[in-house]
Amino acid sequence: MKLYNIKENDQQVSFAQAVRQGLGRNQGLFFPAQLPTFSDIDALLDEDFISRSSKILSALIGDELAAEKVTEMVNQAFQFPAPIKAINQGIYALELFHGPTLAFKDFGGRFMAQSLAAVSDGGKITILTATSGDTGAAVAHAFYGMPNINVVILYPKGKISPLQEKLFCTLGGNIHTIAINGDFDACQALVKQAFDDAELRQQIGLNSANSINISRLMAQICYYFEAVAQLSKAERENLVISVPSGNFGNLTAGLFAKAMGLPVKRFIAATNANDTVPRYLETGKWDPKPTVATTANAMDVSQPNNWPRIEELCRLQSWGLDTLGKGSVLDNESAQAVQELNELGYLCEPHGAIGYRLLTQQLQPGETGLFLCTAHPAKFKEVVDDILGSDIDLPAPLAKHAVMTLLSEQLDADFAQLKARLVAL
Ligand SMILES: *Cc1c(COP(=O)(O)O)cnc(C)c1O
Repeated sequence: MKLYNIKENDQQVSFAQAVRQGLGRNQGLFFPAQLPTFSDIDALLDEDFISRSSKILSALIGDELAAEKVTEMVNQAFQFPAPIKAINQGIYALELFHGPTLAFKDFGGRFMAQSLAAVSDGGKITILTATSGDTGAAVAHAFYGMPNINVVILYPKGKISPLQEKLFCTLGGNIHTIAINGDFDACQALVKQAFDDAELRQQIGLNSANSINISRLMAQICYYFEAVAQLSKAERENLVISVPSGNFGNLTAGLFAKAMGLPVKRFIAATNANDTVPRYLETGKWDPKPTVATTANAMDVSQPNNWPRIEELCRLQSWGLDTLGKGSVLDNESAQAVQELNELGYLCEPHGAIGYRLLTQQLQPGETGLFLCTAHPAKFKEVVDDILGSDIDLPAPLAKHAVMTLLSEQLDADFAQLKARLVAL
């Protein structure tokens, strides 16, 4: 597999290098030089999740890893299903929350852990990642107990749900969690600074596990195929997929799937009040505003780091950006959508409900709609209970962590302090 740096095209790397480095020179994202396509999509869709995903990932990775090795990695990473549920006439939910940390990031996090182990030369590795909630949990659980790997997770203090915090800040061992006095963008900026420090990068074997790492996106391509595989042939004809987005990794993966031949008529880029992308698609002006806190807090991102990949892909495929559906949904509207779904007999949390709301607003007659349910409703229990007046049950993984002690440290959004901490690990 060959990838190039979007900002400095002369930097070309292999899959192994892209997985190890995460980001390229000048903070440029790596992008596949070629996307394989499948001539017989229906045959591919007929296969089961594991064999189909192994084929997709093996086609992407090419001869760098043997097909059997990729199958083994997929088997380890994808130990839970991605079912679709019928919600209403022509509308389906894709449930991506059946992994150990109850959010879609388990797919990417676990495949990345497998990838990194597969390409590692045995040296010391420090994973540094910023999370607005779910990435942290997925990465922490995916790497917990892996030899020679330290994981450091930065998150905005007081800006993620108490339960989310419990899920990844209680592990200890090789998992180090730091609450930063600042917002998610401040955490992300610290990670970028660390990666710009060549000496530090070398010294501690720095690696990022957030959605800029290409292996995570590659894993996510697979569940779009899995979703379509569960639809009838007729429903596959006019499919619209609504993707609740923050850093836009999920939407990037969906567009990659389409470029590889998956029949998707249109995607909807769905955001909360942090609407940099919908405004950009409307006006052509990239004008990020300060991040605002919403009930869909894993999407509280105003400078989405995967957006350049979407621009690059649309340019290469000659897809006009105007072919993307778009919209932003405020907290009161997503709460209404949670209620509406509940009346339809489906329990959903605000992230998924944002996808649902835009889908019902934009779906045309004759189209089939699918919205991504990115997290288990219990992961956002406080918000969901508040909206529905309910007291929903915690699934086992959450209940277990909810009673454990927080092990996080605190730090100001100051790079010198963070660096000292990283070197001392
Ligand atoms: C991370 C996350 C999102 C946003 O996904 P991106 O790939 O960053 O756009 C949406 N919902 C939930 C629950 C998440 O954890």
